[in-house]
Parts: sequence; C-alpha cells; structure tokens
Amino acid sequence: MTAGAPHGPVVVLGGGLAAVSFAGGLRSGGFEGGIVVVSDEVEPPYDRPPLSKEFQREGLPDKIRLDLSRARDVEWLRGTPACKIDTQRREVLLADDRRFGYGALVFATGASPRRLPALQDATLPVITLRTLDDAQRIRAGLGPGARLVVVGGGVIGLELAATARGLGASVTVIEALDRLMNRCASTTLAKVVAQSHLDHGVDIRLGRQVMGFEGPAIVLDDGARVEADLVVVGIGVVANDELARAADIACDDGIFVDRLGRTTCPGVYAIGDVTRQRNPISGRFERIETWSNAQNQGLAAARTLLDPTAAPYADIPWYWSDQYDLRLQVAGVSMGDEEIVRGEAVPGAKFSLIQLHRGRAVGVTCMNNVREFSSLKRLLGSVPLPDRAALADPGTDLRKLLAPPMAR
Ligand code: FAD
Ligand code: NDP
Repeated sequence: MTAGAPHGPVVVLGGGLAAVSFAGGLRSGGFEGGIVVVSDEVEPPYDRPPLSKEFQREGLPDKIRLDLSRARDVEWLRGTPACKIDTQRREVLLADDRRFGYGALVFATGASPRRLPALQDATLPVITLRTLDDAQRIRAGLGPGARLVVVGGGVIGLELAATARGLGASVTVIEALDRLMNRCASTTLAKVVAQSHLDHGVDIRLGRQVMGFEGPAIVLDDGARVEADLVVVGIGVVANDELARAADIACDDGIFVDRLGRTTCPGVYAIGDVTRQRNPISGRFERIETWSNAQNQGLAAARTLLDPTAAPYADIPWYWSDQYDLRLQVAGVSMGDEEIVRGEAVPGAKFSLIQLHRGRAVGVTCMNNVREFSSLKRLLGSVPLPDRAALADPGTDLRKLLAPPMAR
C-alpha cells in the first residue's frame, strides 16, 4: 500500500477517458486496493474525438476503444448509472439498488449536450453528438446527397460539417453569433476556418437562431426555411454534476476542484469535463473540455490520491481539431488584446498565431504547423516576450528563440 492511499475501495463514477486514465494511473502508482468504475453506458470505454471524424468515415467501433491494459483488476460496472451518493456513510447507490462503500470517490461523469427546445417535437431526426450510439445514428443518415443541417458553429458542428462534406452530404451550419468557434478560437483563426468551409461548399448562416420546424424544414429567425434529412445540434454541453450538487458539494455547471482534484467534500475528487478548475492562464475557474485535460487531470488526481505531496496539476489547456486538411492546435486562451501572426493566415496555409494580453502571451494557435506547437506553448506565461519581429517571422527558428535558458 502506498503512503497516502485511501482506506477502502476507490469508486469512480463515469467510464470515459478521465476514468480510464485515473484508474490506470492508480495501478501504475502501486495502488493495490479495490477500484470500481460505474458507467451508465453499456459500451466498453471508447475515445470520443473520432466520433466526429474517422468514425463517421469508417464506422469501426473496435478501432476507437480506450486501452485498458494499465487499469488492471478494475471492476467495471456498465449500463447502470449511479443515482445518489451519501458522503456521511461514504456510499454510492446505483439505479439497480446496488450499494458500494468507498474510501475515495471520484466524479468522472463528463458532460451532456445542451438540447434545443425549438426542435423538441421535430418530425425530422434531430441528434446531438456525444456517444457512440449518437455517432452511429448520425453515420446512418450521412452519405451522398443527404441534407445535413448543423446547429452550432463550434468544434462539434464544424468537424462534423467537414466530415459530412467529405462523404458527399450537403451541409448548412447555423450559428447564433456573428462568428464561428467563439468559445475556443481567435477571430483570425475563426475567419480562416469559416473561409475553408465556404470553399468546401458549406452554407454558413451566422447570427441566426432556429425558431422551429415545418415538416422536413427548419425555420430560422429571418423566416428562412432550410430543408434537412438530418439535424445535428452542437450548441455546447452542461456538466453532469447533479449527484454532487445533491450532496451539497460546491458546483456551478461543473464541480469545483483544486489542483489536487479535491472537491469541497473530504474524500471526494473530480476529474475531466465535469470539473470547474482554475485555468492557469486566465486565473478563472472554468470548465476545460478537452481530451488532454481528461487524460492528464485523471493521471494527476491518481498521483495526488496516493501521495498528497505530489506536484499539483497545472497543465496549460490545449486541444486539437481536424477539419478537411486543416489540423488546428490551440493552447491557452484565445482572447487577447493583441495578436502576432506568424506566416499568412489564409486557408490552406501553414501559420501560427500568438495572443497577447497586456504584453503577455496568453494563447497560441498552430494551423498545419504541428512542429511549432510545443515550442510556442513555452511562450505561455513566460515573461518577457522575445523580440516580436523575430516571433512574427516564420523564418525564425523557434527552437532556438524559445529554448529553455539552460539549453541556449
Ligand atoms: P466523458 O468522456 O463524457 O465520460 C463521462 C462518462 O460518465 C460518460 O460515459 C457518461 O455517460 C458517464 N456518466 C455520467 N453520469 C453518470 C452516472 N451518474 N453514473 C455513471 N456514469 C455516468 N477533445 C480534444 O481535445 N480534441 C478533439 O478532437 C475532440 N473531439 C471530440 C469529438 C467529440 C464528438 C466529442 C463529444 C468530444 C471531443 N473532444 C475532443 C472532447 C473530449 O473527448 C472530452 O473532453 C473527453 O472525452 C472528456 O472525458 P471525460 O472522461 O471527462 O468525460
Ligand atoms: P461549443 O461550446 O464548442 O460550441 C457551441 C457553439 O454553438 C457556440 O458557438 C455557441 O455559441 C453556439 N450556440 C449556442 N446556442 C446556439 C443556438 N441556439 N443556435 C445556434 N448556435 C448556438 O460546443 P460543441 O457543441 O461544439 O462541443 C461540445 C463538446 O465537445 C465540447 O465540450 C467540446 O470541447 C467537445 N468537442 C471538442 C472537440 C475538439 O476539441 N476538437 C471536437 C468536438 C467536440 P455561444 O458560445 O454563444 O453559446
């Protein structure tokens, strides 16, 4: 048994990436006690990023399974949600009436798509995309000649739009704001992404709301009717924090955690999309809805559960997105008061962007520029900024300009 290991089994709620990463981390760290993972999904754990990309093209569930080899001797309970936790008795109740006592409890319950009330009773198929089942239903409706309407110009909507165009569907994207990817991309990046979609024949309606439907068409707030065979709604997610809220654990669309993954209740932790944590760049408590956060916050929580003196989790948030032949990588925050453009920010080009706030680098973006991404990430939080002209010049070798001082 390791130094700080909990007395009693570790129960994890949710069987997604954060849970798998956490369970693997606990075992790799030498934890020999019981680990129970409770998942409401029947499917064995799988990776979500391919659901809007490769899976739509290939339809191969076995290709997207998460690797469970590090999570040895874990009891996986699938197809039954947890429905209550009792933090006094340290007990979890499942929907099938089973009860499990815990030494430590970990919320890894992720998030659920927001619904669009205006299409609640629609007669045409309206689907959100979070699960393998959602992805399979969407896949069945795509193909040459299918008319797809995507509501929401965020990452899900745009990745799916790109994939659907590749499969020969016609695509209309409806976004309520006057730009795409408002939550997670700078204006410059959003314009390049929008132009790429236009170049691929996507009909983009910015600043438009869906009011309802009339037969096979959805109706917008400007009176336009858009005929559809399939509607996919990607308008953001809400945290699956209701069990924590009911147990009086501090939440606000996400369970508040510190850098050790601790909630406000002793013995209860949270990891992944369900958490609200301090963003090391903005300093604000935010939900960080990315694959790398689920993976690394899960590992960090396992480390700190075993050894409370282990280094706190403070990774810089980052995500990638694939749309057509664009590979976007974005780290930090995308809003600033100044931007350095390294290269020419146009569709098809390779370029990078550096967001500054009050002279400090707060965000970096690489477009088809994978080799620069890890060097540029080193800028985040670093003071003082290197010479701006050198940074803006795509000919400058970033490995030299941004090498750690010892390496120079
Ligand atoms: P989840 O994967 O949501 O897992 C939580 C699990 O808990 C779910 O199975 C849920 O059903 C279950 N659960 C909820 N409540 C209960 C309960 N009461 N009892 C039992 N089980 C429960 N990120 C990137 O960085 N790059 C990408 O390209 C990218 N692409 C994506 C594409 C799609 C289509 C989606 C949906 C997400 C994508 N993401 C991407 C985001 C990334 O996949 C998520 O951040 C990550 O999966 C979060 O993992 P998680 O384990 O925290 O939550
Ligand atoms: P996002 O929050 O990224 O984008 C949703 C977009 O829809 C926002 O621009 C939002 O605007 C807009 N919107 C909200 N309401 C409406 C409405 N009524 N009509 C039209 N547009 C509306 O969420 P997604 O749904 O795209 O993604 C869901 C989850 O999946 C996220 O956790 C995301 O991180 C994850 N994901 C990540 C990927 C990646 O990192 N590559 C890929 C795919 C998914 P507003 O900001 O005003 O609410």
